[in-house]
Parts: sequence; structure tokens; C-alpha cells
Amino acid sequence: MSIYEHLVLKIARRWVAGSSMQEALEYARQANSMGMKTIINYLGEHSISKEEAESSTDEYIGLLDAIHSSGIDGSISIKLTQIGLDVDYDTCIGNLMRIVRHASIYDTFVWIDMESSPYYEHTVSMYLDVLKHYKHTGLAYQAYIKEHSLDIMHILESGGIVRLVKGAYREDARIVYRSKRYVNSSFRRLMRILFKHSKGMFAIATHDNMLIEEAIALSKEQPAKDFEFQMLKGIRDDLKHMLVRQGFRVAEYIPYGINISGYVYRRIRERPANLLLLARSLL
Ligand SMILES: Cc1cc2nc3c(=O)[nH]c(=O)nc-3n(C[C@H](O)[C@H](O)[C@H](O)COP(=O)(O)OP(=O)(O)OC[C@H]3O[C@@H](n4cnc5c(N)ncnc54)[C@H](O)[C@@H]3O)c2cc1C
Repeated sequence: MSIYEHLVLKIARRWVAGSSMQEALEYARQANSMGMKTIINYLGEHSISKEEAESSTDEYIGLLDAIHSSGIDGSISIKLTQIGLDVDYDTCIGNLMRIVRHASIYDTFVWIDMESSPYYEHTVSMYLDVLKHYKHTGLAYQAYIKEHSLDIMHILESGGIVRLVKGAYREDARIVYRSKRYVNSSFRRLMRILFKHSKGMFAIATHDNMLIEEAIALSKEQPAKDFEFQMLKGIRDDLKHMLVRQGFRVAEYIPYGINISGYVYRRIRERPANLLLLARSLL
């Protein structure tokens, strides 16, 4: 790791468990001890060669082994461009199938992150393909998209498991809602669909107090629904602990690795005040 990467990692420590798998597992163990489940992500996106995509796939295979052998209550979350979506469709689906086949040995859950809009259709169609072979997989669904070509009902009717998020990428205003008010109202609409129509598990992944309160109200109307809250490492720890104390299932998303720039950039964009925090930690 270069001095620059080392420095950036030090600054981003709030959101990233560390550069190594071992550090992610240690952090996950702490999260488990505080009553949370964990979702571990090996940072990286836009692999440009088959070799790079394969090496990320190998890392996930090793991570699945390590989660199992360490007895951690954890799942994994993958970005498809990390395992070859920019290389070609066959490379990516081949790597994804390798990962889910390996996960099935341990019955470990595999989440697929949703990236920027050009990847939307391939991500959904690969997810639906994988779902035919392995049910223990879920897909992130972004509320800020104005029109989804394959809508949430189609995913639910296919037996899919959804993680609802607001959406984190810089996108054209023709594609996404930019105003918080519209994003939140889309999130509410999709959340109601999940509480009404989801047959299996689903996840509400936000740190937004108001939306969480609304999810709690919906869960009281539909007590049989199997859902969990998901939040990112380093954000709203107070809220995570409060929800655990109230008896809700909470999973913490824990990234690790050295390819942190895209992830850290998105965390800063969500809350520009984070730039100040980063600047202060440099002093
Ligand atoms: C488990 C999980 C998985 C995700 N997976 C994806 C994915 O696959 N694809 C995708 O596009 N997006 C993903 N996201 C990111 C998501 O789309 C949002 O960008 C992110 O969660 C911030 O939105 P929010 O719902 O928390 O609401 P916001 O309105 O952005 O924030 C609500 C409150 O949360 C706190 N907060 C939010 N962000 C930060 C921050 N960066 N730093 C400090 N405080 C903050 C603040 O208190 C803020 O007032 C994921 C989020 C989570 C929690």
C-alpha cells in the first residue's frame, strides 16, 4: 500500500474497517457482540480485466470461508462491476455463480449492491438468474430512480429479497429524483410495497429517523413481516443501538480493503459536513 493510500485509509477509518479481511472480521465480531448482524463488503468497483475480476471473486470465496470458520453472524455484499460486469456479461455471471455456489455450502446470505444506472438492467437480470439457483440472495433497490424498467413487484413475484436504499450515485436529473422530498416519498411508497407484498425477508437500509419511524409503524400493523434495518459502519451508531434495544434486527454494512475512494466519495457527497471531519483528522 502506498503512503497516500495509507493516509486516506487512516482518515476513512470511520467508514471502513481496515485494509485487511482480518480487520473486517474483528470489527464484525464486535458488531455481533453488540447484538447486530453484519454484511461484509470487499471494497472495489469497475474491474477492468478478467484477472482483476477473478482476484476479487477469490477474495469473496476466502471471505465466505473465513466468516464460516470464525463463527461470525455475517453475510457478504458484492458490486457486480467488481467481479467483471465491465469486462463482459459471461465473466461476471460466471464469477457471481462461483460466489453463490460457495455461499450455499455454508448457507451464507449474498447481497448484490446496486451501482449507477447504466448497470441497473444487467444487475437485476443477473440477480433474477442467480435467484433461480440460490434463494439466499438479495438485491439493493434504489428509491431515487424515477422509472425502474423492471419494477419491485416483478422482483418480489420472482421470490426476490430486496434491500431498499435511497441511492448513492451522481446521476442525471432525468433518471433520478434529486430533491430529498421526492426521494423520501418514493422510499415511503416502496417501503409500503415491501411491507404489503414481500413474501420473504426484506431490508430497510437507511439512517433517516423519519423513515425508520415509519417502518416501525408499518411493522406494528404487519407484525408477521420478516425484515431488518441495515446501516453503514460509522453512521448513526446511536440509532443502531437504540433499535437493537427495542428488539429490532439490525445489520451493519462493513467495508474493508484499499480501494476506498469511490465509497468514501459517496459518504462525503451524502453529507458534505464530513469533509470538515476529514480535514480535522488530518491536522
Ligand atoms: C446497508 C446499506 C447498503 C447500501 N447499499 C447501497 C447500494 O447498493 N446502492 C446505492 O446506491 N446505495 C446504497 N446505500 C447508500 C444509500 O443509497 C444512501 O446513499 C445512504 O444510506 C444515505 O442515505 P440515508 O437513507 O441514510 O438518508 P439521508 O437522508 O442521506 O441521511 C439521513 C441521516 O443519516 C445520517 N447520514 C446519512 N449519510 C451520512 C454520512 N455519509 N455521514 C454521516 N451521516 C450520514 C445523517 O444523520 C442524515 O441526516 C446503502 C446504504 C446502506 C445503509
